[in-house]
Amino acid sequence: LFDLTGRVALVTGGASGIGLGIARALSGAGASVVIGDLSGEAATRVAAELTADSGNPTLGLEADVTVAEEAEALVARCVSTFGGLDILVNNAGIGIHVRPEEMTMEQWDKNVSVNLRAVFHLSKIAYAHLCAGGGKIINIGSMYSIFGAGEVPAYAASKGGVVQLTKSLAIAWAEQNIQVNAILPGWINTGLGAQGRREMEGLNERVLARTPANRWGEPEDLAGTAIFLASGASSYVTGVSIPVDGGYSVT
Ligand code: NAD
Repeated sequence: LFDLTGRVALVTGGASGIGLGIARALSGAGASVVIGDLSGEAATRVAAELTADSGNPTLGLEADVTVAEEAEALVARCVSTFGGLDILVNNAGIGIHVRPEEMTMEQWDKNVSVNLRAVFHLSKIAYAHLCAGGGKIINIGSMYSIFGAGEVPAYAASKGGVVQLTKSLAIAWAEQNIQVNAILPGWINTGLGAQGRREMEGLNERVLARTPANRWGEPEDLAGTAIFLASGASSYVTGVSIPVDGGYSVT
């Protein structure tokens, strides 16, 4: 039920952090994985590591998901290298830490472009391939998909949008047997998590005080949910956003 042998997955922003954790999980479950990341060097390096660990082919490519031609080329390379695309993980994301009254429209556009616009664009490009049979889209939201944040307003708005887009694509593409779901990670130890700790005063204490699990998550904590949503085990699950947050969102 959870076996991904013969399936092809694309993970955006998969060269580090949560994306890398998910790429590793899908590769370990049998998928052929393509990692597309701003850093082609890091993507190539981690792809070689994953192949060595799982024995399944992994390809690392440089791509900026906000650039139309690069997003198109990424999907095209999945298809030309592995013969199709079954699982799209829209993980690439950034956080711009500027209060709303100080935020420039360029900063707004940049944040929304990576976190929301590219999620739609890649889904649209992948659609024809996902139609081939039991296609899966996994979008990465955030606790800020649920809660507001005065410190990162464009981030929160874009992540809220990811939840609504997930529902909308799930409805639109149910007939094509494409399941579209989201994971809402809690506070996870990654480069972005460290950036948050640097830029948001008292964040570490706030997170620990409110997280019943009493620790930050690790990228591996998302592995099981990612495999579930990528596999036949979730064939009747669509349009949902699953918090993986050590209980943060229920407090
Ligand atoms: P990270 O910074 O460790 O990794 C993000 C990766 O995305 C990097 O490898 C980066 O090069 C890549 N990337 C950024 N912009 C890109 C672009 N335009 N095109 C292609 N690749 C791009 O961050 P992370 O914490 O692993 O975050 C991954 C996702 O998880 C993001 O969507 C983030 O918003 C979300 N998230 C993170 C946390 C957390 O606590 N770390 C919590 C909730 C949600």
